[in-house]
Amino acid sequence: MRKKQLDEQPVNPYSPENFKVAQVKEKFAGLRFYVHGGDRRIREVIDMAEILSFLLCMRCGLPGKLRDEKAGLGWDLTLCDPHYKAEKKRLSKRLGKLLRVK
Ligand SMILES: [Zn+2]
Repeated sequence: MRKKQLDEQPVNPYSPENFKVAQVKEKFAGLRFYVHGGDRRIREVIDMAEILSFLLCMRCGLPGKLRDEKAGLGWDLTLCDPHYKAEKKRLSKRLGKLLRVK
């Protein structure tokens, strides 16, 4: 009976032994958050954060939108309007310098 009680102790999905963050990165303009362990609640919070990352500017956190390659940046970024304009300006300056150096 004692052995059975020990085996049935609930696992704490939030303890360091049972939950580890493996990697956090930006990919294709959104958050990617990889973990080992945890539970459904942790996965739901991570899913929500990943979805929000496509709706909020990656520079300032204000509402933004996905600016894909066709928006003229050369790669996908999630940005608000002011940061999108600033990024385009920065990129065109950089391209201008690269084209002048020949
Ligand atoms: Zn912004």
